[in-house]
Amino acid sequence: MATVTRVTKIIHHSAIDPSSIFTSCFRNSLVFVCYLVLVLSSNISPSFGLFDENRGSDLYPEILRDEVVARLHQLGGVSDGDGYLERTFMSPAAVRAGNLIREWMEDAGLRTWVDSLGNVHGRVEGRNASAEALLMGSHLDTVVDAGKFDGSLGIISVLAALKVLNINGKLGELSRPVEVIAFSDEEGVRFQSTFLGSAAVAGILPVSALKITDKSDLTIQDALKKNSIEITEENLLHLKYDPKSVWGYVEIHIEQGPVLEWVGFPLAVVKGIAGQTRLKVTFTVDLRTIDDMGREAVVYEFSNRMYQICDKRSVSCTIDRKHDADAVICDSELSSKLKSATYIGLKRMTGAAIQDEIPVVMSGAGHDAMALSHLTKVGMLFVRCRGGISHSPEEHVLDDDVWASGLAILAFIETQM
Ligand SMILES: [Zn+2]
Repeated sequence: MATVTRVTKIIHHSAIDPSSIFTSCFRNSLVFVCYLVLVLSSNISPSFGLFDENRGSDLYPEILRDEVVARLHQLGGVSDGDGYLERTFMSPAAVRAGNLIREWMEDAGLRTWVDSLGNVHGRVEGRNASAEALLMGSHLDTVVDAGKFDGSLGIISVLAALKVLNINGKLGELSRPVEVIAFSDEEGVRFQSTFLGSAAVAGILPVSALKITDKSDLTIQDALKKNSIEITEENLLHLKYDPKSVWGYVEIHIEQGPVLEWVGFPLAVVKGIAGQTRLKVTFTVDLRTIDDMGREAVVYEFSNRMYQICDKRSVSCTIDRKHDADAVICDSELSSKLKSATYIGLKRMTGAAIQDEIPVVMSGAGHDAMALSHLTKVGMLFVRCRGGISHSPEEHVLDDDVWASGLAILAFIETQM
């Protein structure tokens, strides 16, 4: 009997206590996150039917689902920790993970290299090597005691889609170069500085960053040197891509929030990424909004009040601005292409037209796309994750949702033929 699986797990709003989801979603996070969500379509009632795996030959379950899931688990086992997942910038496990990803890039027919900030690149030129390139990717580093999907899914599923094209002899037909980048640092665990890898590619990493030290007083430059990568101020500047050589950046990422489970949909197009300011008083305050001016106003008001309270109590108090990132609005052209691709991917998977609007959501968490937005237009696709939980071993994505994301990415890349 053919295996028949339901594409979506339908969860009604009433079946979920939103507060419990928010608690579990961020229970491992020290910061309070204002998770702003915008679901443009308020009336999503999933109508996916059952599908038959033997239905068509354009579904590639063995590559887009089974191999991706196997690779997610394999990469999830590449850890500096014993019994838990931890890969920080240029750690032994991060280097091993980079090598493994490089093998998978080559398996997908890509030419590969590692740049002087430890980012792993895989590229195919297609028919016109001088055309603006489509960049895709996510981060290979993790938090401490991480899940297997954060970052990794965005790298592995894109490589799977390219592998399908390679097997079908279609990689050479791409109208523009496609480059996958596995960024060396997004989480900022080791050097307390996020987006090191993507910021270098976007040209917004200051040369002073090379001297930032970790707990054992090693600088970023030292960490790279230990792995035979010489980074100088000059070659850091050379890492910046010429904006004229880049068409756009697309990132696939787990949602890290509960909306897709609420609406019973496997994928969503991301409308934008909330800006963020992190203040350190004696506790950390983390503010995230899509409205940068609003966030500034809150920061100003909050700081004033804090100083007043400290004055009244005659205690000295300092407020450090630890982290600032402006909101990013995703490009409307890329978003609409991702929306159509999601539609096509899900239609292939279910064998029926999708009646519902593809959800459009905001991202409360930062992503490499934030750094890349300084270089080029960006678009993002979110994949449903169980309970909205991330940064935890509990992080989970259904195998069929992994497959759905692969089919959507494949359909998106096919628009570049
Ligand atoms: Zn991530």
